[in-house]
Amino acid sequence: MIGSAVAALRAALGSERARDDIATRALYARDDSAQSCMPVAVLFPHSHIEVQAIVRLARRHGLPLVPRGAGSGNVGGALPVPGSAVISFECMSRILDYRPEDRTITVESGCITAQIDACASSDGLCYPPDPGSSQYCRIGGNLAMNAGGPHALKYGVTRDYVLGLRAVTGTGETLVTGARTSKGVVGYDLTRLLVGSEGTLALITEATLRLIPRPQSRALLRAAFRDGHTACQAVSRIMTRRVTPSAVEFMDSHALAAVRQMGAAQELPPDTQALLMVEMDGDAGGIPEQVAVLSGALQGDGLLQLEEAQDAEQIALLWMARKALSPATKAMAPLKINEDVVVPVSRLPDLLSFIDLLAREEQIRIVSFGHAGNGNLHVNFLVRPEEMDKARAALERLLRQVLLLGGTMSGEHGIGSAKREFVPLELDPVSLALQGNIRKLFDPDRILNPGKLFPDP
Ligand SMILES: Cc1cc2nc3c(=O)[nH]c(=O)nc-3n(C[C@H](O)[C@H](O)[C@H](O)COP(=O)(O)OP(=O)(O)OC[C@H]3O[C@@H](n4cnc5c(N)ncnc54)[C@H](O)[C@@H]3O)c2cc1C
Repeated sequence: MIGSAVAALRAALGSERARDDIATRALYARDDSAQSCMPVAVLFPHSHIEVQAIVRLARRHGLPLVPRGAGSGNVGGALPVPGSAVISFECMSRILDYRPEDRTITVESGCITAQIDACASSDGLCYPPDPGSSQYCRIGGNLAMNAGGPHALKYGVTRDYVLGLRAVTGTGETLVTGARTSKGVVGYDLTRLLVGSEGTLALITEATLRLIPRPQSRALLRAAFRDGHTACQAVSRIMTRRVTPSAVEFMDSHALAAVRQMGAAQELPPDTQALLMVEMDGDAGGIPEQVAVLSGALQGDGLLQLEEAQDAEQIALLWMARKALSPATKAMAPLKINEDVVVPVSRLPDLLSFIDLLAREEQIRIVSFGHAGNGNLHVNFLVRPEEMDKARAALERLLRQVLLLGGTMSGEHGIGSAKREFVPLELDPVSLALQGNIRKLFDPDRILNPGKLFPDP
């Protein structure tokens, strides 16, 4: 069965673009999660029409398809399941239509995210969503996960910039959603339904994205705190002011130690246990007032030092260190469970207290950092292989507590295969059943990314 499916795909695409040699299969057997599984083949379509042909053949042969961008996802979203083929969008990476006068850009789904922003920058425009992986992740992966980034606080996430999509459903039909205009209200919003659907409803082949003017200037404040609680209380104070920072990033003492090893955030007071990076942007003339307002908000209990980065080089060094934290924590232990829970900003101190309690009671090393302005923390459990059961139990305790605090279990990384068993903790049976029915409409034979996002029915 699988053999005939692969043979049919090879006949349709050619042997270079439908590969089943062991080296290629091994290369696509993993993503940035700790798991791996060999696919039976890896497919490299070059066009929407080829994607459609692949889905139709796969459906006829009952072959599950696992869409893949760059494989930088941390929850096993692009991880093959047994007997599946990976469909990689890396050969569909063209910018199809760039219209600065309409502030739109239409790209193929394999386009690297940073290239979209680079193209827009030539006309003083920008594509704001900036996941830490933006130099290598692909827009199709961002769309499927509704990726965010540090600037989501002011600029929103991927979903906020998508005007329309072209995609192939699980039945092999072409689906065009949305409009190419900045307004449009006809019919249900299938664009927003596909964004964040983790490749389970349709394979996205093209996207029309909204662009905005590029901010002229930026400034960055570095605030050292006595402990995580007082740092998070400062974040709540910031949220009550009339200035929206472009980013508010938090680092606990362990994350801070890693950042210092990278040469950034030196010369902090010795008793610093938490750090906030508060960035603001806009017209050059308005920056001093923003700095004054946000500096005022940062003043308060626990503040040990407040400094403004002096130049673009210092700003870049701090961001470089912040963005390197994710890979750096990976190197700190044999295994890392990387969570990205979100709570209302006012509940961040409660979340930190719980994380401290969890680390003590479960005897697990936990490093936390992230987008505090969104209440979104990356809680990293650093463990040895023999501690995995303990870590999974601790993870469930963390997710339950996050929900009690009025939060959600994932702010940007998604569910993938890693967290799907926990989804019923957050979604009620009515919502789960409706979503299951929606999935059936798009993909009645469940060939698109099975084993992801929801527990098996
Ligand atoms: C160092 C590092 C930093 C990161 N920082 C962030 C961050 O700040 N914010 C954030 O949100 N994430 C972050 N991530 C996670 C990851 O980069 C994002 O989830 C990203 O959106 C994945 O893009 P990708 O191209 O690698 O997709 P993949 O990992 O290949 O796939 C992700 C999901 O999308 C599906 N998919 C891919 N292409 C398509 C398509 N064309 N149609 C339908 N489904 C598709 C896959 O099946 C999978 O379910 C980070 C990861 C790393 C390693």
